[in-house]
Amino acid sequence: MESTVEQISKAINESNNIVFFGGAGLSTESGIPDFRSVDGIYNQEYEYPPEQILSYSFFKKNPEVFFKFCREKCLKPIINAKPNPAHIALAKLEEMGKLKAVVTQNIDGLHQAAGSKEVLEIHGTLHSHTCIDCGKKYTLDYVLKTEGIPRCECGGIVRPDIVMYEEGLDTSLLERSILYISNADCLIVSGSSLVVQPAASLINYYRGSKLILINKDPLAADKYADYYIHAKAGETFKQIMEYITS
Ligand code: NAD
Ligand code: ZN
Repeated sequence: MESTVEQISKAINESNNIVFFGGAGLSTESGIPDFRSVDGIYNQEYEYPPEQILSYSFFKKNPEVFFKFCREKCLKPIINAKPNPAHIALAKLEEMGKLKAVVTQNIDGLHQAAGSKEVLEIHGTLHSHTCIDCGKKYTLDYVLKTEGIPRCECGGIVRPDIVMYEEGLDTSLLERSILYISNADCLIVSGSSLVVQPAASLINYYRGSKLILINKDPLAADKYADYYIHAKAGETFKQIMEYITS
């Protein structure tokens, strides 16, 4: 009797148009808390839930609190974070020509750090920032050298290039993600609670018969999966890669 990891590895071995869709759980083994954990920590320190702080109207009204939260809960954890075996395995599968794209809700840049080339960051990135008044671009390093509300040389607020709640997702990125997912022969989904929309509904565009879910906690979508495993992504990908032959 084959283990689930062996069955998943076999499905991956038989695929050459794999797409990966992931979320915050993929980076917890790199030391970056996922949303729910952040929520937990937040409850003791902040007056508002993260969804509210990371919303556009909150950012406009309370930029001090927005940037305090952003620095402590988003920027600080990513500064020294390193890719874990899940990020590394996905980069390797792309290098082998088997995986065509990573579609991620993460804003931490760890897929690129692992060597992945085709990364569609549908919620944007913390690695670049933009002045809301003149549009000048700034690096993460620039922002890290500032305190409080980061300012542009024109005086405008320098915001992270992430998609805040209440903001729309980039249409062309969404279209490219849909194209990749709808043409995929295998879709691997990992580290996402699949509750943040519209990102979560992207997996509905998959039409194949190898939907693989690797998630620590059970998901409502488990019932649609061809293979699912409740385990940590990094540990599971490490095991999977031992069986990947072609
Ligand atoms: P989520 O926090 O809602 O859900 C995370 C899921 O990952 C949970 O189901 C959990 O069981 C699972 N998980 C946790 N650790 C895991 C592990 N080691 N292996 C496998 N599964 C694991 O995350 P979401 O669905 O991505 O939605 C949260 C939103 O917050 C997203 O929009 C995301 O952009 C943002 N966010 C990003 C980061 C990041 O960039 N690393 C971190 C926190 C939040
Ligand atoms: Zn400016």
